[in-house]
Amino acid sequence: MTIAFRGISHKFGNQTALSNIDLDVKDGEIVCILGPSGSGKSTLLRIAAGLEPVQQGAIFLGDQLMADAVTNPPPEQRPIGLVFQDHVLFPHQTVAENIAFGLHNQSKAQREAMVKLQLASVDLADMAQRYPHTLSGGQQQRVALIRALATQPSVMLLDEPFASVDTPLRRKLREQARLTLKAAGTPTLMVTHDPEEAMDMADRILVLVEGVAVQLGTPEDLWRSPKGGFVAQTIAGLQSLQGTVQGETVQTLFGTVPMHRIANRDDRALNPSTLKEGATVTLGLRAHTLALKAANGPAVISDRRFLGQRYLTLVTLGDQQLRVETAKQEALPIGTLVEINFASVEALIYS
Ligand code: ADP
Repeated sequence: MTIAFRGISHKFGNQTALSNIDLDVKDGEIVCILGPSGSGKSTLLRIAAGLEPVQQGAIFLGDQLMADAVTNPPPEQRPIGLVFQDHVLFPHQTVAENIAFGLHNQSKAQREAMVKLQLASVDLADMAQRYPHTLSGGQQQRVALIRALATQPSVMLLDEPFASVDTPLRRKLREQARLTLKAAGTPTLMVTHDPEEAMDMADRILVLVEGVAVQLGTPEDLWRSPKGGFVAQTIAGLQSLQGTVQGETVQTLFGTVPMHRIANRDDRALNPSTLKEGATVTLGLRAHTLALKAANGPAVISDRRFLGQRYLTLVTLGDQQLRVETAKQEALPIGTLVEINFASVEALIYS
């Protein structure tokens, strides 16, 4: 069943936390809400959960109104599954009892069968009789997820669910959570501040900056055609470089970027053809499309890091730096004077 947010706006005192948010999350879809700290992510989720009243706008489940400024059922009367960062398993109940908790409408035999099935689905069949504190953080998180799913909610709401899990485990946990959620087919809205996590988990990403939805799209949409500096830098991995339009080029501190290397965008205002002579633009550049040439400068290699298949080279000129990714065999030592070759650069304009 689709959960639909329509025109959700929210204020705390006179501070705006959310501005006119529209979003649909369909069956089987995972949407991540991504944004910097304080951008309104948790507020949107809390409004959906009934932990915060709707001030303006409405939330629908299918074609039924779930909540608006007048109708505001408490969390326990909403068909939602909630998972938060600090997994809230009941400490004095076993894993099996925790999962069975939400299944009070079913017979004992049905409950037991369901708990078994759910635990097996996340490789925790052996843990049924254990208490939460004897499980690792990752295991507890998996239990919290299936406990929420066991009630067969219409919507799953996850708020930074992996934040307290060690980094190496997080990727595996995300993969497993994605498979579990996809298998259940429940529409899922998940809050994260971690772009990698959003790219890893989401079918689509809603990017919030200061309570405004700056972009909604697939990870690929956001990577290829970012809107605004936050998406450009954190998701699309673009680094910014200012320049001035001069004929068929943009002149930057590090050298000349040919205009034909600058991508056309959906938004015509950000297309190279609309630029006026002498205008100042901010370019976004992909590090792996820049090349280095040992020369008499003007820049110098100030650092170098090994990334497996490639080297990340930091090039400094004055107080500015650019990251250049090069194949291992092309690695130049720190201190080498270089110039940057923009002939094959992938660039776009983002303001
Ligand atoms: P995020 O989850 O993106 O970090 P939040 O939704 O928690 O952001 O908060 C959005 C904005 O609203 C922030 O500026 C935050 O300080 C403010 N805020 C959140 N909850 C409250 C509250 N209960 N009272 C006052 N301000 C709040």
